[in-house]
Amino acid sequence: MSRYFTKTLGSLEPYVPGEQLKIDSLVKLNANENPYPPAPGVAAAVAAAVPGLRLYSDLSNRTLNEAIAAHWGVQPENILCGNGSDENLLLALRAFCDEHTPLAFADVTYSFYPVLCDLLHIPQHVIPLEADLTIDLKKYCGLHETIVIANPNAPTSLLAPVAGIEEVLKTNPDNIVVVDETYVEFAPAGSSCLPLLEKYDNLVITHTFSKTHNLAGARLGYCIARPELIADMNRVKFSYSPYNVNSMTQAAGTAAIRDEAYFRDITAKLLATRADTTEKLRQRGFTVFDSATNFLFATTDRMPCREIFEKLRAQGILIRHFNAPRISNYLRITIGTDAEMQRFFTVLDEFLAH
Ligand SMILES: *Cc1c(COP(=O)(O)O)cnc(C)c1O
Repeated sequence: MSRYFTKTLGSLEPYVPGEQLKIDSLVKLNANENPYPPAPGVAAAVAAAVPGLRLYSDLSNRTLNEAIAAHWGVQPENILCGNGSDENLLLALRAFCDEHTPLAFADVTYSFYPVLCDLLHIPQHVIPLEADLTIDLKKYCGLHETIVIANPNAPTSLLAPVAGIEEVLKTNPDNIVVVDETYVEFAPAGSSCLPLLEKYDNLVITHTFSKTHNLAGARLGYCIARPELIADMNRVKFSYSPYNVNSMTQAAGTAAIRDEAYFRDITAKLLATRADTTEKLRQRGFTVFDSATNFLFATTDRMPCREIFEKLRAQGILIRHFNAPRISNYLRITIGTDAEMQRFFTVLDEFLAH
Protein backbone atom coordinates (compact mmCIF):
# COMPACT_ATOMS: atom_id res chain seq x y z
CA MET A 1 0.00 0.00 0.00
CA SER A 2 1.49 3.39 -0.89
CA ARG A 3 1.34 6.27 1.56
CA TYR A 4 -1.22 7.88 -0.74
CA PHE A 5 -3.80 5.08 -0.40
CA THR A 6 -6.88 6.32 1.42
CA LYS A 7 -6.84 5.65 5.15
CA THR A 8 -10.58 4.95 5.05
CA LEU A 9 -9.83 1.68 3.21
CA GLY A 10 -6.69 0.79 5.16
CA SER A 11 -8.09 -2.52 6.39
CA LEU A 12 -9.63 -3.62 3.09
CA GLU A 13 -8.93 -7.29 2.26
CA PRO A 14 -9.65 -7.76 -1.45
CA TYR A 15 -11.52 -10.83 -2.72
CA VAL A 16 -9.22 -13.68 -3.75
CA PRO A 17 -10.49 -15.24 -6.99
CA GLY A 18 -9.74 -18.85 -7.94
CA GLU A 19 -6.25 -18.80 -9.47
CA GLN A 20 -5.79 -18.65 -13.22
CA LEU A 21 -2.63 -20.73 -13.76
CA LYS A 22 -1.38 -20.55 -17.32
CA ILE A 23 0.01 -23.99 -18.05
CA ASP A 24 -0.68 -26.46 -20.85
CA SER A 25 -3.16 -29.26 -20.23
CA LEU A 26 -4.40 -27.60 -17.07
CA VAL A 27 -7.64 -29.07 -15.75
CA LYS A 28 -9.36 -26.03 -14.29
CA LEU A 29 -12.03 -27.00 -11.78
CA ASN A 30 -11.58 -24.09 -9.36
CA ALA A 31 -13.79 -21.17 -10.44
CA ASN A 32 -17.09 -22.79 -11.44
CA GLU A 33 -16.65 -21.74 -15.04
CA ASN A 34 -18.66 -23.75 -17.56
CA PRO A 35 -16.48 -26.38 -19.27
CA TYR A 36 -18.24 -26.06 -22.63
CA PRO A 37 -17.58 -23.35 -25.25
CA PRO A 38 -19.98 -20.44 -25.75
CA ALA A 39 -23.05 -21.16 -27.91
CA PRO A 40 -22.17 -21.59 -31.60
CA GLY A 41 -23.68 -18.24 -32.65
CA VAL A 42 -21.64 -16.17 -30.20
CA ALA A 43 -18.47 -15.81 -32.29
CA ALA A 44 -20.32 -14.42 -35.32
CA ALA A 45 -22.39 -12.10 -33.14
CA VAL A 46 -19.25 -10.64 -31.56
CA ALA A 47 -17.58 -10.27 -34.97
CA ALA A 48 -20.66 -8.44 -36.24
CA ALA A 49 -20.39 -6.02 -33.32
CA VAL A 50 -16.82 -5.01 -34.16
CA PRO A 51 -17.56 -2.31 -36.79
CA GLY A 52 -19.86 -0.63 -34.24
CA LEU A 53 -17.09 -0.39 -31.64
CA ARG A 54 -16.38 3.11 -32.97
CA LEU A 55 -19.52 4.16 -31.13
CA TYR A 56 -20.38 3.92 -27.46
CA SER A 57 -22.36 0.84 -26.49
CA ASP A 58 -26.17 0.95 -26.27
CA LEU A 59 -26.84 2.67 -22.95
CA SER A 60 -30.23 1.03 -22.59
CA ASN A 61 -28.96 -2.51 -23.39
CA ARG A 62 -32.25 -2.90 -25.21
CA THR A 63 -31.68 -5.99 -27.35
CA LEU A 64 -29.90 -7.87 -24.59
CA ASN A 65 -32.48 -6.95 -21.96
CA GLU A 66 -35.23 -8.19 -24.30
CA ALA A 67 -33.43 -11.49 -24.84
CA ILE A 68 -32.91 -12.01 -21.09
CA ALA A 69 -36.53 -11.04 -20.37
CA ALA A 70 -37.74 -13.58 -22.96
CA HIS A 71 -35.60 -16.30 -21.35
CA TRP A 72 -37.29 -15.75 -17.97
CA GLY A 73 -40.76 -14.65 -19.10
CA VAL A 74 -40.50 -11.16 -17.59
CA GLN A 75 -40.42 -7.65 -19.11
CA PRO A 76 -37.25 -5.85 -20.30
CA GLU A 77 -38.03 -3.21 -17.64
CA ASN A 78 -37.31 -5.88 -15.02
CA ILE A 79 -33.69 -6.29 -16.15
CA LEU A 80 -30.48 -4.46 -15.32
CA CYS A 81 -27.21 -5.67 -16.83
CA GLY A 82 -23.77 -5.18 -15.38
CA ASN A 83 -20.11 -5.96 -15.90
CA GLY A 84 -20.50 -9.32 -14.21
CA SER A 85 -22.73 -10.17 -11.31
CA ASP A 86 -20.10 -8.74 -9.01
CA GLU A 87 -20.81 -5.26 -10.36
CA ASN A 88 -24.56 -5.74 -9.95
CA LEU A 89 -24.05 -6.76 -6.34
CA LEU A 90 -22.10 -3.56 -5.85
CA LEU A 91 -24.86 -1.50 -7.47
CA ALA A 92 -27.48 -3.17 -5.30
CA LEU A 93 -25.55 -2.71 -2.06
CA ARG A 94 -24.75 0.90 -2.93
CA ALA A 95 -28.44 1.52 -3.62
CA PHE A 96 -29.97 -0.41 -0.70
CA CYS A 97 -27.40 -0.29 2.14
CA ASP A 98 -25.39 2.38 3.94
CA GLU A 99 -23.67 3.03 7.28
CA HIS A 100 -27.05 2.70 9.02
CA THR A 101 -28.51 -0.15 6.97
CA PRO A 102 -26.41 -3.28 7.52
CA LEU A 103 -26.21 -6.25 5.22
CA ALA A 104 -27.10 -9.65 6.66
CA PHE A 105 -25.62 -12.79 5.13
CA ALA A 106 -24.34 -16.25 6.08
CA ASP A 107 -20.89 -16.95 7.53
CA VAL A 108 -20.22 -19.52 4.84
CA THR A 109 -21.31 -18.07 1.51
CA TYR A 110 -19.93 -16.14 -1.47
CA SER A 111 -16.94 -14.34 -0.01
CA PHE A 112 -17.43 -11.28 -2.18
CA TYR A 113 -20.25 -10.00 0.08
CA PRO A 114 -18.04 -9.06 3.05
CA VAL A 115 -15.46 -7.53 0.70
CA LEU A 116 -18.11 -5.27 -0.84
CA CYS A 117 -19.31 -4.28 2.63
CA ASP A 118 -15.77 -3.25 3.59
CA LEU A 119 -15.36 -1.28 0.37
CA LEU A 120 -18.68 0.52 0.83
CA HIS A 121 -18.50 0.93 4.64
CA ILE A 122 -21.60 -1.17 5.20
CA PRO A 123 -21.92 -2.89 8.62
CA GLN A 124 -22.09 -6.68 8.35
CA HIS A 125 -24.51 -8.92 10.19
CA VAL A 126 -23.03 -12.37 9.76
CA ILE A 127 -25.44 -15.22 10.54
CA PRO A 128 -23.86 -18.65 11.03
CA LEU A 129 -25.15 -21.56 8.98
CA GLU A 130 -26.35 -24.59 10.94
CA ALA A 131 -23.86 -27.26 12.07
CA ASP A 132 -24.53 -29.23 8.87
CA LEU A 133 -23.94 -26.07 6.78
CA THR A 134 -27.60 -25.74 5.78
CA ILE A 135 -29.29 -22.36 6.14
CA ASP A 136 -32.07 -21.74 8.65
CA LEU A 137 -34.07 -19.04 6.90
CA LYS A 138 -36.07 -18.31 10.05
CA LYS A 139 -32.98 -16.50 11.30
CA TYR A 140 -33.48 -13.97 8.49
CA CYS A 141 -37.12 -13.23 9.28
CA GLY A 142 -37.96 -9.82 10.74
CA LEU A 143 -34.37 -8.57 10.71
CA HIS A 144 -35.14 -5.13 9.28
CA GLU A 145 -31.81 -5.19 7.49
CA THR A 146 -30.85 -5.59 3.87
CA ILE A 147 -30.23 -9.29 3.21
CA VAL A 148 -28.33 -11.26 0.61
CA ILE A 149 -28.89 -15.00 0.26
CA ALA A 150 -27.07 -17.08 -2.33
CA ASN A 151 -29.50 -19.80 -3.38
CA PRO A 152 -28.21 -22.36 -4.15
CA ASN A 153 -25.40 -21.36 -1.82
CA ALA A 154 -21.71 -21.32 -2.66
CA PRO A 155 -19.49 -23.04 -1.73
CA THR A 156 -21.87 -25.49 -0.02
CA SER A 157 -23.88 -26.24 -3.24
CA LEU A 158 -27.06 -26.55 -1.15
CA LEU A 159 -30.50 -25.29 -2.13
CA ALA A 160 -32.99 -23.67 0.24
CA PRO A 161 -36.75 -23.84 -0.45
CA VAL A 162 -38.56 -20.94 -2.13
CA ALA A 163 -41.17 -21.02 0.68
CA GLY A 164 -38.45 -20.15 3.21
CA ILE A 165 -37.27 -17.22 1.10
CA GLU A 166 -40.87 -16.04 0.80
CA GLU A 167 -41.07 -15.79 4.60
CA VAL A 168 -37.90 -13.69 4.59
CA LEU A 169 -39.41 -11.32 1.99
CA LYS A 170 -42.70 -11.11 3.85
CA THR A 171 -41.15 -10.37 7.26
CA ASN A 172 -38.70 -7.72 6.02
CA PRO A 173 -41.16 -5.52 4.12
CA ASP A 174 -39.07 -2.35 4.53
CA ASN A 175 -35.81 -3.85 3.31
CA ILE A 176 -34.44 -5.32 0.12
CA VAL A 177 -33.75 -9.05 -0.03
CA VAL A 178 -31.19 -9.91 -2.70
CA VAL A 179 -31.34 -13.54 -3.81
CA ASP A 180 -28.17 -14.47 -5.69
CA GLU A 181 -29.43 -17.14 -8.09
CA THR A 182 -26.15 -17.62 -9.94
CA TYR A 183 -26.55 -21.40 -9.83
CA VAL A 184 -30.33 -21.83 -9.85
CA GLU A 185 -30.43 -23.14 -13.40
CA PHE A 186 -28.46 -26.19 -12.21
CA ALA A 187 -31.10 -26.82 -9.52
CA PRO A 188 -34.40 -28.69 -10.02
CA ALA A 189 -37.14 -26.79 -11.88
CA GLY A 190 -39.15 -24.57 -9.54
CA SER A 191 -36.16 -23.54 -7.39
CA SER A 192 -36.11 -19.89 -8.48
CA CYS A 193 -37.84 -17.14 -6.49
CA LEU A 194 -38.85 -15.43 -9.71
CA PRO A 195 -42.59 -16.13 -9.23
CA LEU A 196 -42.37 -14.07 -6.00
CA LEU A 197 -41.63 -10.92 -8.00
CA GLU A 198 -45.37 -10.40 -8.53
CA LYS A 199 -46.10 -10.51 -4.82
CA TYR A 200 -43.13 -8.72 -3.25
CA ASP A 201 -41.69 -5.34 -4.17
CA ASN A 202 -38.52 -5.87 -2.09
CA LEU A 203 -36.98 -8.73 -4.11
CA VAL A 204 -33.84 -8.41 -6.23
CA ILE A 205 -32.62 -11.55 -8.02
CA THR A 206 -29.10 -11.65 -9.44
CA HIS A 207 -27.81 -13.87 -12.22
CA THR A 208 -24.67 -14.19 -14.28
CA PHE A 209 -23.67 -15.48 -17.71
CA SER A 210 -20.41 -16.75 -16.19
CA LYS A 211 -21.59 -20.14 -14.95
CA THR A 212 -24.64 -21.10 -17.02
CA HIS A 213 -24.00 -19.38 -20.35
CA ASN A 214 -20.29 -20.06 -20.88
CA LEU A 215 -19.25 -16.39 -20.89
CA ALA A 216 -17.21 -15.80 -17.73
CA GLY A 217 -14.61 -13.84 -19.70
CA ALA A 218 -17.20 -11.58 -21.33
CA ARG A 219 -18.18 -10.24 -17.88
CA LEU A 220 -21.96 -10.13 -17.94
CA GLY A 221 -24.45 -10.40 -15.13
CA TYR A 222 -27.97 -9.12 -14.55
CA CYS A 223 -30.56 -8.34 -11.91
CA ILE A 224 -34.26 -9.09 -12.14
CA ALA A 225 -36.49 -6.84 -10.02
CA ARG A 226 -39.47 -4.49 -10.08
CA PRO A 227 -38.90 -1.52 -12.44
CA GLU A 228 -38.71 0.90 -9.45
CA LEU A 229 -35.77 -1.04 -8.02
CA ILE A 230 -34.10 -1.29 -11.43
CA ALA A 231 -34.42 2.51 -11.62
CA ASP A 232 -32.76 2.86 -8.20
CA MET A 233 -29.81 0.75 -9.27
CA ASN A 234 -29.61 2.64 -12.56
CA ARG A 235 -29.24 5.87 -10.57
CA VAL A 236 -26.09 4.40 -9.06
CA LYS A 237 -24.89 2.95 -12.35
CA PHE A 238 -25.31 6.24 -14.19
CA SER A 239 -23.32 7.92 -11.43
CA TYR A 240 -20.16 6.00 -12.10
CA SER A 241 -20.18 3.76 -15.19
CA PRO A 242 -23.05 4.40 -17.61
CA TYR A 243 -21.54 2.26 -20.40
CA ASN A 244 -20.80 -0.65 -18.09
CA VAL A 245 -21.61 -3.37 -20.64
CA ASN A 246 -19.55 -3.11 -23.82
CA SER A 247 -20.99 -3.74 -27.30
CA MET A 248 -19.20 -7.06 -27.84
CA THR A 249 -20.52 -8.41 -24.57
CA GLN A 250 -24.04 -7.21 -25.34
CA ALA A 251 -23.85 -9.11 -28.65
CA ALA A 252 -22.33 -12.21 -27.07
CA GLY A 253 -24.92 -12.32 -24.30
CA THR A 254 -27.83 -11.85 -26.68
CA ALA A 255 -26.67 -14.71 -28.91
CA ALA A 256 -25.94 -16.96 -25.93
CA ILE A 257 -29.24 -16.56 -24.12
CA ARG A 258 -31.31 -16.88 -27.30
CA ASP A 259 -29.86 -20.34 -27.99
CA GLU A 260 -32.11 -22.26 -25.61
CA ALA A 261 -31.42 -25.62 -27.30
CA TYR A 262 -27.66 -25.36 -26.72
CA PHE A 263 -28.20 -24.24 -23.14
CA ARG A 264 -30.49 -27.21 -22.42
CA ASP A 265 -28.07 -29.61 -24.08
CA ILE A 266 -24.92 -28.59 -22.20
CA THR A 267 -26.80 -28.21 -18.90
CA ALA A 268 -28.14 -31.76 -19.23
CA LYS A 269 -24.61 -33.02 -19.98
CA LEU A 270 -23.24 -31.17 -16.97
CA LEU A 271 -25.91 -32.59 -14.65
CA ALA A 272 -25.13 -36.12 -15.87
CA THR A 273 -21.43 -35.55 -15.16
CA ARG A 274 -22.34 -34.14 -11.74
CA ALA A 275 -24.29 -37.29 -10.82
CA ASP A 276 -21.47 -39.50 -12.05
CA THR A 277 -18.78 -37.51 -10.21
CA THR A 278 -20.80 -37.48 -6.98
CA GLU A 279 -21.16 -41.24 -7.09
CA LYS A 280 -17.48 -41.84 -7.85
CA LEU A 281 -16.37 -39.61 -4.97
CA ARG A 282 -18.75 -41.37 -2.57
CA GLN A 283 -17.38 -44.73 -3.69
CA ARG A 284 -13.95 -43.44 -2.67
CA GLY A 285 -15.06 -42.55 0.83
CA PHE A 286 -15.86 -38.87 0.34
CA THR A 287 -18.85 -37.20 1.94
CA VAL A 288 -20.41 -35.18 -0.87
CA PHE A 289 -23.25 -32.68 -0.38
CA ASP A 290 -26.26 -33.09 -2.67
CA SER A 291 -25.34 -30.40 -5.17
CA ALA A 292 -27.85 -28.06 -6.83
CA THR A 293 -25.01 -26.29 -8.65
CA ASN A 294 -22.23 -26.93 -11.18
CA PHE A 295 -19.76 -27.85 -8.44
CA LEU A 296 -19.46 -30.31 -5.58
CA PHE A 297 -18.63 -29.62 -1.95
CA ALA A 298 -16.93 -32.60 -0.39
CA THR A 299 -14.84 -33.79 2.51
CA THR A 300 -13.05 -36.98 3.52
CA ASP A 301 -10.98 -38.36 6.36
CA ARG A 302 -8.72 -40.34 4.05
CA MET A 303 -6.27 -37.43 3.81
CA PRO A 304 -6.41 -33.75 4.85
CA CYS A 305 -8.30 -31.82 2.17
CA ARG A 306 -5.56 -29.21 1.97
CA GLU A 307 -3.15 -32.00 0.99
CA ILE A 308 -5.50 -33.38 -1.66
CA PHE A 309 -5.79 -29.90 -3.12
CA GLU A 310 -1.99 -29.52 -3.24
CA LYS A 311 -1.33 -32.97 -4.69
CA LEU A 312 -3.85 -32.37 -7.47
CA ARG A 313 -2.41 -28.92 -8.14
CA ALA A 314 1.06 -30.39 -8.54
CA GLN A 315 -0.38 -32.51 -11.37
CA GLY A 316 -2.05 -29.56 -13.12
CA ILE A 317 -5.51 -30.09 -11.68
CA LEU A 318 -6.92 -27.06 -9.95
CA ILE A 319 -9.79 -27.33 -7.50
CA ARG A 320 -10.68 -24.93 -4.66
CA HIS A 321 -9.69 -25.19 -1.03
CA PHE A 322 -10.69 -22.43 1.41
CA ASN A 323 -8.48 -21.63 4.38
CA ALA A 324 -11.57 -20.42 6.19
CA PRO A 325 -13.25 -21.25 9.49
CA ARG A 326 -15.60 -24.27 9.41
CA ILE A 327 -14.72 -25.32 5.85
CA SER A 328 -10.95 -25.77 5.89
CA ASN A 329 -11.34 -29.55 5.55
CA TYR A 330 -13.60 -29.33 2.50
CA LEU A 331 -12.96 -29.16 -1.22
CA ARG A 332 -14.99 -27.39 -3.88
CA ILE A 333 -14.76 -29.16 -7.20
CA THR A 334 -16.21 -27.57 -10.34
CA ILE A 335 -17.88 -30.04 -12.71
CA GLY A 336 -15.86 -30.18 -15.92
CA THR A 337 -16.27 -32.32 -19.01
CA ASP A 338 -16.31 -36.10 -18.64
CA ALA A 339 -12.72 -36.22 -19.91
CA GLU A 340 -11.60 -33.66 -17.31
CA MET A 341 -13.29 -35.58 -14.50
CA GLN A 342 -11.66 -38.75 -15.69
CA ARG A 343 -8.24 -37.10 -15.48
CA PHE A 344 -9.17 -35.82 -12.00
CA PHE A 345 -9.97 -39.35 -10.81
CA THR A 346 -6.88 -40.87 -12.42
CA VAL A 347 -4.62 -38.50 -10.48
CA LEU A 348 -6.71 -38.74 -7.28
CA ASP A 349 -6.60 -42.54 -7.34
CA GLU A 350 -2.83 -42.53 -7.81
CA PHE A 351 -2.15 -40.79 -4.54
CA LEU A 352 -5.12 -42.08 -2.53
CA ALA A 353 -3.86 -45.62 -3.18
CA HIS A 354 -0.58 -44.90 -1.41
C1 LIG B 1 -19.49 -16.63 -9.62
C2 LIG B 1 -20.44 -15.98 -8.68
C3 LIG B 1 -20.81 -14.63 -8.86
C4 LIG B 1 -20.11 -13.69 -9.79
O1 LIG B 1 -20.40 -13.80 -11.09
P1 LIG B 1 -19.71 -12.86 -12.17
O2 LIG B 1 -20.82 -12.52 -13.07
O3 LIG B 1 -18.67 -13.69 -12.83
O4 LIG B 1 -19.15 -11.65 -11.49
C5 LIG B 1 -21.78 -14.11 -8.01
N1 LIG B 1 -22.33 -14.85 -7.02
C6 LIG B 1 -21.98 -16.13 -6.82
C7 LIG B 1 -22.62 -16.90 -5.72
C8 LIG B 1 -21.01 -16.73 -7.63
O5 LIG B 1 -20.64 -17.98 -7.40
